[in-house]
Amino acid sequence: MAPFKKILIANRGEIALRVLRACQAMNIRTVAVHSTVDRNLKHVGMADESVCIGPAAAGQSYLNVPGIIAAMEVTDAEAVHPGYGFLAENADFAERVEESGFTFIGPRAETIRLMGDKVSAINAMRQAGVPCVPGSNGPLDDDDRRSERLAAEIGFPVLIKAAAGGGGRGMRVVEHPEDLIKSISLTRQEARSGFGDETVYMEKFLTNPRHIEIQVLADAHGNAVHLGERDCSMQRRHQKVIEEAPAPGITPDERERIGRICTDACRRIGYLGAGTFEFLYEDGEFYFIEMNTRIQVEHPVTECVTGLDLIRAQILAAAGEPLPFSQDDVVILGHAIECRINAEDPEKFIPQPGRVESFHAPGGPGIRVDSHIYDSYRIPPNYDSMIGKLIAHAENREAAIARMRVALDELVLRGVINNIPLHQRLMRDSGFIEGGANIHYLEKLLKGG
Ligand code: ADP
Repeated sequence: MAPFKKILIANRGEIALRVLRACQAMNIRTVAVHSTVDRNLKHVGMADESVCIGPAAAGQSYLNVPGIIAAMEVTDAEAVHPGYGFLAENADFAERVEESGFTFIGPRAETIRLMGDKVSAINAMRQAGVPCVPGSNGPLDDDDRRSERLAAEIGFPVLIKAAAGGGGRGMRVVEHPEDLIKSISLTRQEARSGFGDETVYMEKFLTNPRHIEIQVLADAHGNAVHLGERDCSMQRRHQKVIEEAPAPGITPDERERIGRICTDACRRIGYLGAGTFEFLYEDGEFYFIEMNTRIQVEHPVTECVTGLDLIRAQILAAAGEPLPFSQDDVVILGHAIECRINAEDPEKFIPQPGRVESFHAPGGPGIRVDSHIYDSYRIPPNYDSMIGKLIAHAENREAAIARMRVALDELVLRGVINNIPLHQRLMRDSGFIEGGANIHYLEKLLKGG
């Protein structure tokens, strides 16, 4: 028996299609909601039903909570999958969904709220035994002397971060003690105007870390497993460009140790569904930075190396079913790499919406393409520039890179300027091939350094 009869997909693009595919494979009927410019999205045509919920501006469509709840009511959907972005980490939305008698496919609203505030998230994690970046252990107050003492203890450079910040916004590096107080007050001002919350905290600034994250799955019966790690260090302006699993150089012992810390924390906070613990990794140590309480863009690399379907797992967990496997059943097989395909200028990185003249997806063993685009599809200018993901899986990293190179060369995408040339370059770049590059590598490479 299917866990739900009908699921509404509150998202667009490739992730909406990914969720739809999982539902169809589970015999669950689907409702697509879309904005006026998104009538031609692939998953809208494939869904059992579709509802137009508003104009192009996301605020009036994909973020339109009453519109989405109304669409659930008129279509008799039982549950909603939020995908990533938009309402995926909106605790008020999760709460509204449950209050209206529907199921939110994700963690409980209070968990989303706890993790949405960086200060409360770090405190909860520290209490649960997760290693965090040395720092203020809470908000900074108005006592300048205390902040100066703290920074001296931590050691410069330090980072001032807004509790409500994210995506690299609302943070400031302080190199010298004399700049500290001014930087705190500037970050506070930005946080107040940008996020409506002036809470800031202090952390040690790690100079050359890697970004390594742990995927977890938890059910409503106190079971939690981890599915190993992903390395997402290839970033530009804090946006991930390439992700891979497993992370080069991480030993099975390290994986087991940090994975167990994360699953213990899941049990401790009553986590439900799929989630990701993001860490900075430097000199053999993991430092927690945040938890994402949703499915992530890069989930396919974990699916490839574990053979699991994470969207299906999310749906089953939300339906209250116990995890059908234990930690010992999770086996990491081979290596997977994902390239995010963006409709953007490969040099200036400006989004390039427009009409896709022709699109041909590559194939062959170990190649997966998650994309909603098709011949003559028009990419609207209103949303993210990511138009798909190309994933290569093979028995080891070298073979996965070789497969990715062939797939990138085979992929045909005409009509829109895109970042495939950047990926082709990276798959032949000695620094990437070596593995284990830090989060600054790509930007330095692009600057010619
Ligand atoms: P997110 O973008 O995942 O919401 P943050 O805004 O907290 O996370 O951080 C954005 C990026 O800033 C991180 O991915 C990392 O590259 C960098 N960063 C965050 N905290 C630190 C730190 N303490 N030291 C060095 N770099 C950091």
